[in-house]
Amino acid sequence: MVIDFHCHAGPGDALTAPWNTRAPLRAYLARAAACGIRRTVVVPAFHDDSLRAHRALAALVARHRPRLVGFAMVHPRQDAGRVHALVRRARTRYGFRGIKVHGHDALPGREVLEAARAEGLPLLLDVAGQAHTVEMLAGEYPEVPIVIAHLGSFADDWRAHLTVIDLMVRHANVHADTSGVRRFDYLVEAVRRAGPHKLLFGSDGPWLHPAVELHKIRMLRLDPQAEWLVTRGNAARLLRGSTAAPSASLAGVGGAG
Ligand SMILES: [Zn+2]
Repeated sequence: MVIDFHCHAGPGDALTAPWNTRAPLRAYLARAAACGIRRTVVVPAFHDDSLRAHRALAALVARHRPRLVGFAMVHPRQDAGRVHALVRRARTRYGFRGIKVHGHDALPGREVLEAARAEGLPLLLDVAGQAHTVEMLAGEYPEVPIVIAHLGSFADDWRAHLTVIDLMVRHANVHADTSGVRRFDYLVEAVRRAGPHKLLFGSDGPWLHPAVELHKIRMLRLDPQAEWLVTRGNAARLLRGSTAAPSASLAGVGGAG
């Protein structure tokens, strides 16, 4: 069983691009099922109202329980002053298991990291090229697991990949997901230098094909234990709210394995 740690779902608001209009799951769910993905972390598409977006995502998660795992997406600037309330509500009312922030909205500061720490949730962060800023987040909040989307860049910025690998090596709480990384050898480098316990499979579905993205992991030719960590173990550990060393079981992750 594989866990996909990065997928989008539901309606967006701006209607100027696919990612802020709608993230339809029908094709994704069939493709994911066909390649053994049994759990998927879903985050809302870009939106103007976080509360409404969480509500819409919660309805989707409920319809596909236990297959989908919801994350609260907050906008550090627009939601300033109510981030913790939004996150707590998303966790307690909807059962969401993490927080997503996209650097195109704004980069996270203390308010987001304190909400993550207080609620015991991992932060999935798209740094939008500003990978170096994670140095401060990771240092100030070592208890908060941070997963940097796309190994630092969806836009093929090799400098961001190098920065993120270095952060993964030096900070116990810094991880990365594999979604959308084009230059394969940076994935090789991430495993070699930071270790397989720091990398998580992510597809960036529904826009990227999950089987294509998963094939990249298979092509790393890892030993079975290392591949298990990347495709399942690390995600299971972070979704359990633990940064401790991974165990061999998946107890507590969205029901049956
Ligand atoms: Zn994404």
